[in-house]
Amino acid sequence: MKIQLETIPVWDGVKEGSECFICTLMKKAEEDGIRYYLSSAVMTPEVRVETNTHGFCSHHFSMLAEGGKPQSLALVMDTFYEESKRILSSYADKVHSASSARKAEKAINAYFNAYHEKRDKGCLICSRMEDRLMRYCYTVASLWKEDAEFRKALMESKGFCVHHTEALLRIAKEALSGDDLLAYYQDIFSLMEKNIDRVQHDDWWMTQKYKSENKDKPWNGCEDAQKRAVYKLVGEGQVIDPV
Ligand SMILES: [Zn+2]
Ligand SMILES: [Zn+2]
Repeated sequence: MKIQLETIPVWDGVKEGSECFICTLMKKAEEDGIRYYLSSAVMTPEVRVETNTHGFCSHHFSMLAEGGKPQSLALVMDTFYEESKRILSSYADKVHSASSARKAEKAINAYFNAYHEKRDKGCLICSRMEDRLMRYCYTVASLWKEDAEFRKALMESKGFCVHHTEALLRIAKEALSGDDLLAYYQDIFSLMEKNIDRVQHDDWWMTQKYKSENKDKPWNGCEDAQKRAVYKLVGEGQVIDPV
């Protein structure tokens, strides 16, 4: 598989000092996806065929709804409804002509199964994000091997959230093999262990700060430890349901 390197954003990421720079890059990928599907691109027939066929996951539908671009979204939704109604109509006949509740229930279940299979499943924004996630994770592994300075900066960084650690480890074998792959697995795993300890320690210090005897002690940068503890686990900018 030929995967494009994203050296500049990944190097910028490792220098930013956040809890997970893949989260930062994926939030940007998500914003770009939302912007694209609220742009004039949705006026073109090819893109409307895509949006009619696949649509979006509930998370990204909500982001589109709150995206402040009523005209573009109205166009997307109008044709999306048209296609949804086409699927609905054949089931609606069966529901209305049913001779018993049991037969109607069967048609209703068949409709919602088809709905979840054909309308609900797959998200174009998640798909675009997944492409970038693949490239970012591939680039981290490649730079870790090729660039000693990058490896040093990475190992001294705050690491990644657990969610993206899983993605990094899953995608690593696209870039590495043999002893390199083993050493990379071990490095990324150590990075996760070390940084989970650090984040938990910060969270613990927050619990201590709320005790009256520690009122005047310094925060040591733990003012947002409870939030970092959450996002270190679940990450941000998750790919939910790619096509
Ligand atoms: Zn992350
Ligand atoms: Zn999505």
